[in-house]
Amino acid sequence: MSQRFFVEVPIATERVRLGGTEAHHLLHVMRAAVGTEVILWDGSGVEYRARVVVVDRTEAELEVLSQQSVNRELEHRLTIGVALPKGDRQRWLVEKAVELGVQRVVPLKTERGVAQPGNEAVQRLRRTVIEASKQCGRNRLMEIDDAMKLSEFLAEPSDDAVRWLAHPAGTGQPTASAAERCGDASVSDIFLAVGPEGGFTRRELDLARQSRWQPIDLGPRILRTETAAMALAALWALR
Ligand code: SAH
Repeated sequence: MSQRFFVEVPIATERVRLGGTEAHHLLHVMRAAVGTEVILWDGSGVEYRARVVVVDRTEAELEVLSQQSVNRELEHRLTIGVALPKGDRQRWLVEKAVELGVQRVVPLKTERGVAQPGNEAVQRLRRTVIEASKQCGRNRLMEIDDAMKLSEFLAEPSDDAVRWLAHPAGTGQPTASAAERCGDASVSDIFLAVGPEGGFTRRELDLARQSRWQPIDLGPRILRTETAAMALAALWALR
């Protein structure tokens, strides 16, 4: 795959200017010169083959040569609500969610959770989404919502969506029907919820049941939040 560069505004003209981090990557990491060909993408699902025509120290101008719709998305819609861990583990989760094709991550405010990312932190995570998409070839951006209360998230899915809430039931057995359900090709909207390191409270579990979410046990070992989230996402991404 050619080097891919993200353009913040929808590409609508034959000449495109690249600035900021992307220009830095093009000019100082890739050391592109006039004539270098790359792929541009703007999150619309289209890839643009383009050639560098002007360079200066901080910006480059490229000429679009051709364009092509390239779909590397899942066929179904996958949303994960998760009480995000801190720091590197949060970035790791976002990066892997992009790679697996998750469409939307919703940081959840839960009773035992640590503070969820504010506006600035969400902006930084959106940068992680771009970096991960450049690397894995996704042409649409995974959404990261502003932090939401668990109760709101639980109420969001429609009745025909799959609604799974990860919770260790203490039986030592992963939920047997889970893998089977993933084989059902008619399912097109999937919502997953994963708790904080302290787990969901009894009250939260009751609320989930009332909203007709299914508790899912992932087996006898307690997984970190980000591992549980990616194990569940992988079940649906690779079905
Ligand atoms: N001490 C907590 C565990 C929290 S682990 C407890 O006993 O509930 C963080 C989150 O990851 C959990 O809230 C759950 O959503 C998910 N998780 C971790 N291990 C799991 C397992 N074996 N089965 C189901 N969910 C799990």
